[in-house]
Amino acid sequence: MLVVMRSDATPAQITRVVEAVAALGLTPHPLPGTTRTAIGMTGNTAAVDRAHFEVLPGVEEAIRVTKAYKLASREMKKDDTTVRTPFGNVGPGTFTVVAGPCSVESEPILMKTAEHLLGKGVKLLRAGAFKPRTSPYSFQGLGVEGLKLLAKTREQTGIGIVTELMDTENASVVEEYSDVIQIGTRNMQNFSLLKRVGKCRKPVLLKRGMSATLEEWLMAAEYILAGGNYDVILCERGVRTFSDHSRNTLDLSVVPPAKALCHLPVLVDPSHGTGKRAYVPAMTYAAMAAGADGVMIEAHPDPDHAASDGAQTIDFPTLDAMLAKLAVMAPLFGRTMGG
Ligand code: PEP
Ligand code: MN
Repeated sequence: MLVVMRSDATPAQITRVVEAVAALGLTPHPLPGTTRTAIGMTGNTAAVDRAHFEVLPGVEEAIRVTKAYKLASREMKKDDTTVRTPFGNVGPGTFTVVAGPCSVESEPILMKTAEHLLGKGVKLLRAGAFKPRTSPYSFQGLGVEGLKLLAKTREQTGIGIVTELMDTENASVVEEYSDVIQIGTRNMQNFSLLKRVGKCRKPVLLKRGMSATLEEWLMAAEYILAGGNYDVILCERGVRTFSDHSRNTLDLSVVPPAKALCHLPVLVDPSHGTGKRAYVPAMTYAAMAAGADGVMIEAHPDPDHAASDGAQTIDFPTLDAMLAKLAVMAPLFGRTMGG
């Protein structure tokens, strides 16, 4: 249920509705809009009586939300969500590039990458300190030591940090060191982890599960929103199909419906989506054309010697050429680069 307030509703009237929701044992979610506030509610397993709210002063109407992903749905929030970070906004009107190595390898590589990115106007660095690897014998990441290297890189350069959280055990330390918490494809339906990041006060970048439908992906986002963290960024990273010409099938066709059904920003990861560096630029341009709010790209000063995912990692000259092209394309799609 969504309680829409009149545009002239007073703060006291809004508070009264919030209290009325809480009095039913439900969780109120005030959603300030451009012209008026709406109050969403979650926690009910049976239908709530609309009349219960429509009699309250300042209430315009109470609307039943039909979608299972209530807080994530456009029914609940018509306007696009902008996720704000100290390193730029992600959302409508902008095209955000997040770039960096697959994993945190060393301080010099992070510094070199951060300086290069900032020189090109890219303000968010990606790199995993905790790595979900298919083989237990592959490089597992530097863990907390890697998080400290990321924090040092931010301190010295001023770049923002996007890094993956794999388990609830490390939630506090990843929240402390990161600016955006990444939830990987393999954890999209790790409900304990989703509930835990719902309590975090940093934005969450939620990758689509490699076999998840759009609805399952939005329901995963709903877990985070329902926990009280409204700063969720979706990220399409390719799904499993019969195709074997690429690591995954980058499902760019999910971007328009995701944007139609949900108000959250959507990024695209063409690196994991293709698995091959040669295809990353084309899929990046296509992501912008598909309506994505940005891309997350694996880039490294020496991709052939990257500790993980080198085959899909681009070098700096390729990144620079791509950024130059994106800057030319951006106005055509109503975007400005950065955020
Ligand atoms: C990554 O971004 O390095 C990563 C592990 O991504 P995904 O969860 O999409 O495989
Ligand atoms: Mn990777």
